[in-house]
Amino acid sequence: MKIIDLRSDTVTKPSLGMKQAMWDAEVGDDIFNDDPTVKHLEAFVAEKLGKEAALFVPSGTQSNLIGIMMHCQRGDEYLVGQEAHTYKWEGGGAAVLGSIQPQPVHFENDGSLDLNKLVDYIKPLDDHHPRTKLLCLENTQAGKVLPLAYLAQAKVFCTEHHLLHHLDGARVFNASVKLGVDVIEIAKHFDSVSVCLSKGLGAPIGSVLVASKDQIKEARRWRKVLGGGMRQAGVIAAAGIYALENNIQRLQEDHDNAQLLAKLLSEIDEIKVEIQNLQTNILYINVPKQHSENLSSILKEQGILIPKGKRVRLVTHLDVHREDIFTVVNQIKKYLKESQLKMVT
Ligand SMILES: *Cc1c(COP(=O)(O)O)cnc(C)c1O
Repeated sequence: MKIIDLRSDTVTKPSLGMKQAMWDAEVGDDIFNDDPTVKHLEAFVAEKLGKEAALFVPSGTQSNLIGIMMHCQRGDEYLVGQEAHTYKWEGGGAAVLGSIQPQPVHFENDGSLDLNKLVDYIKPLDDHHPRTKLLCLENTQAGKVLPLAYLAQAKVFCTEHHLLHHLDGARVFNASVKLGVDVIEIAKHFDSVSVCLSKGLGAPIGSVLVASKDQIKEARRWRKVLGGGMRQAGVIAAAGIYALENNIQRLQEDHDNAQLLAKLLSEIDEIKVEIQNLQTNILYINVPKQHSENLSSILKEQGILIPKGKRVRLVTHLDVHREDIFTVVNQIKKYLKESQLKMVT
């Protein structure tokens, strides 16, 4: 049975072309700086994002953690969104492993952190307080794209308040494709950016952290400390290079498919589509309580995977095609019709 998996864009499988690139990869021991493919990937991403240097790491979680650890010392803190990956979804790594305290602040509806509110969270230099050192933003944030004008303001804010500026850019290419700008236009507002290769770009593994040469030197040390130093990692770096060469522009298809899904689902009475939040490949829908468990399990029998719950996140990616969107909508309609019949009889 064909599986249509809308749970995340992390579920993509390497394509034939990508596997061929992995097969062909020239490798060496990267901890000895001997892996040409890893070096190539790092130089490629650094150039693409307009930074001096880059570091290839196993996961986005580690990339963000290293980013925070290279910017902050023990006893420092970072300003971060209450729902941000770098606060809520990384096991508290910065605090657990870096002795760095997060200062969470609520996101605004557009995924930004209100700079006027942030001011109040910056602690004065005083032995009582942690030292506020870093601002972490996320782009896209739950699929929402931060406006370029806001990024420029946030950069000025950081300069004024002597803060460093990190971007969790797990899906930053979705943002650049949506805005129709080079990703440099986003990255230039930050000291460091973490990019996931294993989301919509379709690589099986890996993230890249970009920053200045000196910062990446420090990052390389923290990667080793955290157990993220890898040996013949060219095999997976090759997948990343392939992803960057082939799968950026096509993210537009994922955005189009998400729009199509939203349009078709909004024609169904029982389902509320959060159309105002849909900008890229992540769509939220609200399902009536009585269906929140069943919809997911019945669809699963048809090979369609979605999360359970009342507020459901649906994510499009390169293994979901336009015709799959129609299949999904038809199966949801069928489910709703049958459950209504059951209620009548
Ligand atoms: C996926 C993701 C990450 C990284 O997660 P890993 O599972 O460690 O690769 C970081 N930030 C955001 C916003 C993400 O969606």
